[in-house]
Amino acid sequence: MKKLRFCTNKQLDEIMIEQFLHEQGAGVDFGKRIIKLHPKLKSAKSLENTEQKKKIIHLYVYNYYRSHKEAISQSIKNLQKAWHKKEKEFVAVTGQFFMDYQFPKGKYIAYASIVDCNPRFLDSKTFQFFYKKKLADAIHTIVHELLHFIFFDFVEKKLKSEIKILTEEQLWDLSEIFNVVVLGSAQYQNIVDKKYVFPYPHHKPLLSQFRKAYKDSCNAEEFIKRGVTIIKTKK
Ligand SMILES: [Zn+2]
Repeated sequence: MKKLRFCTNKQLDEIMIEQFLHEQGAGVDFGKRIIKLHPKLKSAKSLENTEQKKKIIHLYVYNYYRSHKEAISQSIKNLQKAWHKKEKEFVAVTGQFFMDYQFPKGKYIAYASIVDCNPRFLDSKTFQFFYKKKLADAIHTIVHELLHFIFFDFVEKKLKSEIKILTEEQLWDLSEIFNVVVLGSAQYQNIVDKKYVFPYPHHKPLLSQFRKAYKDSCNAEEFIKRGVTIIKTKK
């Protein structure tokens, strides 16, 4: 993995706001979350006309960026500086756990966002982070997403037949529980603040089994294989 870069991307924010205004998932109403932060976008949500909706969002985002320019760029600077101190150790620890498997190629960009949705784009190796997040929370977001990038690439290339028996949703479950257990482990204690590492509520029942599997495994490959078995045999 080359160095993670940080920047703004107004256009991406517009596209994501348009999409997330109407999205609910994993118990989160993203539309509500956006409007709570940006009440003026309420009018965009109720509009049927896509063009009008786009226009309102575009204008809002444009103005917001203009009036919060300083704060946004300061938050990027702070995060960049904080991440710079962690990146080396993260790459080393993760590389070791994945038996020197390399991070997939990509441009690795963290885009600041004015909404708290934090999506990632597996193909381009980019993701968004809410610019008002606390530093430690934003660091967790970075580490969480980077771990997803190497995880999905690794299972695609190295464990294709093993993961074939999982549905797409089960693979997602596996990737999320994998992150919670790995990032909560001693190896990552200097990199991630544990306070921000927590499972989705419906993953909680599997955690103790996963933690045991982690203890029994020497590396990511063994752990993932055990994880597949746990997910497949759960009731
Ligand atoms: Zn995730």
